[in-house]
Amino acid sequence: MAGVAIVTGGSRGIGAAVCRLAAEAGYDVCVNYQNDRDAALQAVEDIEAKGGKAIVYPCDVSKESDVQSMFREVDNELGTVTALVNNAGVVLPISRVDEMTSERLAKILGINITGSFLCAREAILRMSTKHGGKGGVIVNMSSAAARLGSPNEFVDYAATKGAIDTFTLGLSKEVGPEGIRVNAIRPGLIDTEIHASAGAADRVEKFKDGVPMRRSGSAEEVAQATVWLMSEEASYVTGALLDVAGGR
Ligand code: NAP
Repeated sequence: MAGVAIVTGGSRGIGAAVCRLAAEAGYDVCVNYQNDRDAALQAVEDIEAKGGKAIVYPCDVSKESDVQSMFREVDNELGTVTALVNNAGVVLPISRVDEMTSERLAKILGINITGSFLCAREAILRMSTKHGGKGGVIVNMSSAAARLGSPNEFVDYAATKGAIDTFTLGLSKEVGPEGIRVNAIRPGLIDTEIHASAGAADRVEKFKDGVPMRRSGSAEEVAQATVWLMSEEASYVTGALLDVAGGR
């Protein structure tokens, strides 16, 4: 077994692809999700069909007690976590900044930023040699939006991903001496259901010709990079912000 991985937002899109590939790489996987139980169970079924081991755990990563319960469940069912993929993230309906409510901002900051911090904290408490752990790896799912800013679409979302980049840089230095590598992936335009959740199901089609490689990416292409960062092949890589964005 390569280790025990928790993938937040593992039911659909990039997270589901990470769960499947991580299982193929030998990880026992906790598939976290919030609402779509059928999709999460499908990911587990696919993993088990190939001889892997996985559990599902529904919770909102922005809720502290839920996150703590999830990590305790993984301790009991799979063993000590060795890899955390902070993938759960949302965009909200396309909006200008002068239209954004405080409720909207609290929601997106809570899921995209606080959720990643809470999960990282629970992982560090188990992985860090300072806390008696044996080390581990954290991969944060940022976005090319952190560089692009997403004007007239979702500057709030882009700003949360800028925060994830800074979080990655700071945390990698904080826990590097304690056996934990921390990196981020910055996907570009990836063909998942996230665009429909912003009210723009045609976003991939609309913007793909502006990508230097003239196409969108797949969830699997992002997952390949993620599982590489999780692996021993990336043993000297930490604090990296890896663009998987077709040159965008
Ligand atoms: P997606 O297809 O919309 O899937 C989102 C996943 O996150 C689902 O599994 C969803 O669970 C889960 N989730 C949402 N809110 C949650 C919460 N509060 N707690 C726990 N889980 C939650 O999104 P995606 O495109 O795969 O994106 C995954 C990550 O990549 C996100 O962080 C996103 O910002 C980033 N990203 C995506 C793109 C892109 O173009 N697709 C580009 C750059 C970065 P349910 O199934 O239960 O709803």
